Amino acid sequence: MNTKIAISSGKGGTGKTFIATNIAVILAEKGKKVRYLDCDVEEPNGHLFLKPQIDEEEDVTLLSPVGVDEEKCISCGDCAEVCHYNAIALVKENVLVFKELCHVCGACQVVCPTDAVIEEDRKIGVLRHGKSGSIAFHYALLETAEGGMSPRLVKKVRDHIGEGINILDSTPGTA
Ligand code: SF4
Ligand code: SF4
Repeated sequence: MNTKIAISSGKGGTGKTFIATNIAVILAEKGKKVRYLDCDVEEPNGHLFLKPQIDEEEDVTLLSPVGVDEEKCISCGDCAEVCHYNAIALVKENVLVFKELCHVCGACQVVCPTDAVIEEDRKIGVLRHGKSGSIAFHYALLETAEGGMSPRLVKKVRDHIGEGINILDSTPGTA
């Protein structure tokens, strides 16, 4: 069985992490099985309070379009039409991909009739796992300029919700 307690606030700097870390410590001292998940991937700071020992670090990557195979592309423009983020465009006969606008939704790959979209792994951050005393600790760090990928990385942290009491230190502005 697992219990989830999310600590959130409308803005940053309100003492959210202070509250979350203290709840985690108090519950652990009472003998509860506690997991601390820092979901503030843009500026995590729970580790500054709990000082976990990090045992494992893993890159988080998403398969993302980087260009097109010109031999396969028939310049139909379907990829550009389906993209809600203007991250892929057909200019004259050429397809251009703007990585910084891409939200890695996969739609261009799905609609392409000739399988011409080339994808590569794109690193959006790192996940770190460790322990602070008996408290299992999970947090992530978003790569610079990957702000749009923040929800994907938060989900990766949340994937570590498990048995016991899960304390989720939410991102500022989470309602
Ligand atoms: S993956 Fe989605 S957001 Fe990125 S270029 Fe393709 S359609 Fe646009
Ligand atoms: S959908 Fe495929 S074939 Fe059509 S323009 Fe885009 S990459 Fe080329």
